[in-house]
Amino acid sequence: MQTTIFRHAVVAAVSVAALLCPAPGAAQPNVDWDAVEITVHHVAGGVHYLEGRGGNIGLSIGDDGVVMIDDQFAPLTDRIVMAIRGVSNGNIRFLINTHVHPDHTGGNENLGNMGVVILAHDRVRVRLADRLPEVALPVLTYSDTATIHLNGEQVHVFPVPPAHTDGDSFIHFRGSDVLHLGDVFRTVAFPVIDTNNGGTLEGTIAALGIAVGLAGPHTKIIPGHGEVSSREDVMEFRDMVLAVTDRVKKLVSEGKTYDEVADANPTAEYNDQWGDPTRFLTAVYQQLSDGQ
Ligand SMILES: [Zn+2]
Repeated sequence: MQTTIFRHAVVAAVSVAALLCPAPGAAQPNVDWDAVEITVHHVAGGVHYLEGRGGNIGLSIGDDGVVMIDDQFAPLTDRIVMAIRGVSNGNIRFLINTHVHPDHTGGNENLGNMGVVILAHDRVRVRLADRLPEVALPVLTYSDTATIHLNGEQVHVFPVPPAHTDGDSFIHFRGSDVLHLGDVFRTVAFPVIDTNNGGTLEGTIAALGIAVGLAGPHTKIIPGHGEVSSREDVMEFRDMVLAVTDRVKKLVSEGKTYDEVADANPTAEYNDQWGDPTRFLTAVYQQLSDGQ
């Protein structure tokens, strides 16, 4: 089932920079929120995902209500809720934050005020508490796994090693065989390792390995940004991270500076697919040269 709500015929041009998940606190550029197109796509079984602006929103939908993964930006909440009502009974019961970034948690205050129970990794609450009011904070936090039993589905939530940030969770909709990987996996850019929020290269590689190990040949994978993917797509992404890491590690061991590493172009054959490598390369270099 696919429901599309057009507020305007013309879809606003979405800047690539905004898609890359700005750092918390980063000012949003002037956005015409009314022009953002909200679209709900069916993924598999009772799972859908909602595209708007910001991170992909995962949805478990059924008679018991809705489990929502991430919530994009506050100015979109009304239209996001309207779109969810279009494919469900509208009873949003739980919201899980995959991580702290504002393009995944911007609707927390609105949804908290609606009485939705917000769950997230312990670290997400700690980091959000710096900038959001109490009602926007997760009321249920975890450092290990949690499972929500709704809609005949086990929605299995679990933290992964510090990857994109230090509060990343994956969500496995076991009955529908769908994984939501938050921003650890994206199909539109190189990995973003937000070291300011505790993200690590080692954890990124480990977390992607966890996803590959958990997924089967038919598992549908919702990335934080981009298109629904397969296990093979995640393997390809992980293999790219491993290859670039090996190359940079070698250059670092030869005493190369960041500029020399960038000049060696260790991402050469991947740039067509994943775009500008600068931010990724900077994080990889920083992580591998620490303490050297
Ligand atoms: Zn993010």
